Amino acid sequence: MDNILSINVNKENKKYPCVDCLTDYINIKIPQALADKIDIIIAKRIQGYRSRGEIVNECIRQKIREIEDKNSLEPYNHYNVFEDHATVKDYTKKGMEIDVFFRNGKPFCDYCKKSNCEHIHFLLNKEEFQKILKDKGY
Ligand SMILES: [Zn+2]
Repeated sequence: MDNILSINVNKENKKYPCVDCLTDYINIKIPQALADKIDIIIAKRIQGYRSRGEIVNECIRQKIREIEDKNSLEPYNHYNVFEDHATVKDYTKKGMEIDVFFRNGKPFCDYCKKSNCEHIHFLLNKEEFQKILKDKGY
């Protein structure tokens, strides 16, 4: 017997939207026992909750705030600059290392296959990176 229940969670990270995502919701499974507790809260109208999603979203937001107090949740990091490219670590893609090349004075993202994407914006907004590019004559 399946004791796992699926709940939709609203994707809230609009500041760094995922270009690959076509929907605003994903499914996360929680144990049936937790869903049963949530259903009791809803049935008793405790604290005004009216749906499983409402409760789950609030719990997740609270946990993320706790984590954010002590950790950076910036989606990109760890850039190295080489002769013809820089590497961005993309935590929205499980820490994938993405190369941004500099060709003819223009950046080009090897992952997005574009000259204008979130990885390039991340690099271009870093003062340290701007200085490196300037030193290299870009
Ligand atoms: Zn990109």
